[in-house]
Amino acid sequence: MSASLDEFASQKLAALKQRNLLRTLIETERLGPVEVRRGGKRLISFSCNDYLNLSQHQAIKAAAVEATQKYGVGSGASRLVTGNHPLFAELEAKLAALKGAEAACVFGSGYLANTGIVPALAGADDMVAVDELSHACIFAGARLTGGALHVFRHNDTGHLGEILAAHRNDHPRALIVTDGVFSMDGDLAPIGELADIAQEHDAWLMIDDAHGIGVVGGGRGSSYVNSGQGRVPLQMGTLSKAVGGYGGYLCASRAVIDLIRTRCRTFIYSTGLPPASVAAAIAAIDLIEADPDYAALPLKKAKAFTEALGLPEAVSPIVPIVLGDSERTLRAARLLEDEGFLVVAIRPPTVPDGTARLRVTFSAAHGDDDIERLAGIIRARILEAPDAEAPDAEAPDAEASA
Ligand SMILES: *Cc1c(COP(=O)(O)O)cnc(C)c1O
Repeated sequence: MSASLDEFASQKLAALKQRNLLRTLIETERLGPVEVRRGGKRLISFSCNDYLNLSQHQAIKAAAVEATQKYGVGSGASRLVTGNHPLFAELEAKLAALKGAEAACVFGSGYLANTGIVPALAGADDMVAVDELSHACIFAGARLTGGALHVFRHNDTGHLGEILAAHRNDHPRALIVTDGVFSMDGDLAPIGELADIAQEHDAWLMIDDAHGIGVVGGGRGSSYVNSGQGRVPLQMGTLSKAVGGYGGYLCASRAVIDLIRTRCRTFIYSTGLPPASVAAAIAAIDLIEADPDYAALPLKKAKAFTEALGLPEAVSPIVPIVLGDSERTLRAARLLEDEGFLVVAIRPPTVPDGTARLRVTFSAAHGDDDIERLAGIIRARILEAPDAEAPDAEAPDAEASA
């Protein structure tokens, strides 16, 4: 039908394959809180973002089924048309309460939230400053503003301050956006310091709490660690990780939420979440609020792992084992799979060149014995293996995950 199109795709694929960057989908069936079936094998997954195992929780599944029976499988239209079924208001009230905000707005996904919120608040005359290791959809949102995009060095508040000192006065508005818990590194943003800088330069601070809600800050997320309490006016996040389902959200002041509902394109022009997803998130947040000890478990498990390996103590349920080279990382992932563990290799461009890694994530239901065995294998057969090389000391590429 179109020879040049297929030729373009084939050549592009061949080039990616040569650099070990070809991505393929592997069918993976979740069998329970931590077990999956992949390629006919049962594996213990250390790669799910389902930190509280809520995607498999009986009461939450029941809430989703009940909502489907009552309201149907889809919402039928965007929320501003007829898709605003009665469960949305309940979920938004719960999210706002959990985050200590006046109001909340639920989106189709976290990706849709970031690509909608940022250009709704900043335009062509404005500036957006983004941590270099922020998630790809933050960069996508920042580009959609048409304004100036400044990338600051990872967690380097000094660098951010310099950028604002140099450029803030050229723009009517400035937005600072960063992950609260960095998705591929597991470290936390210095929220309190960022809030100070934002205040000093009259910039608006937006934190993407995708990997924080439910698991840090007593379950309230990364705005409640590192002295951030109550100082983040824009708390964005997703319902697809610890919350266990699907959807995105923003918690903010009443005025900001009203503006988002009126002006944010990914909210206006995209269908509302299915009732099942909204009901599941309501049940999940109830559980997170009721049981902070349960919410603390994934981090506790991650700390047991970093202690066993002599790594710096985990501050979130995400622990990276940076091996550097993509091929070596793929080999390490295969070795772990042979031992019954699923630990997915993360390669560029998801992470900067030369920093391919095993990304190990911990959930409430991981067994202490499995964590110990995993740490033992990683130490003896990956980190201390004869072919182990030091990771490339290449400078991180700005826009790591873009
Ligand atoms: C996963 C993730 C997103 C996207 O959320 P989805 O709901 O999966 O679209 C956004 N930001 C960060 C930091 C993430 O890790």
